[in-house]
Amino acid sequence: MGIRFPQPRYMPCSECGAAVERASTEQHVCERGPLLDYQMFQLRDDVAAVESELSAYLDSPSGRFELWWAERERRRRGDE
Ligand SMILES: [Zn+2]
Repeated sequence: MGIRFPQPRYMPCSECGAAVERASTEQHVCERGPLLDYQMFQLRDDVAAVESELSAYLDSPSGRFELWWAERERRRRGDE
């Protein structure tokens, strides 16, 4: 017979992080807003890393070339 740990009544939903009563996890439906917030919260480090990588990239010679090229292509298509 193992030790029984007391179980909290509420569990965070693994999808959206909302507090869901243990007994009603089956009925829980994730709401879009909190779900997105929670996912962004979980991804915040990745998002910050991507943002700084992107701005570092756009600051580099190849990044500036890409921007120039994209702009040039956009104008070229617009003229046709
Ligand atoms: Zn949920």
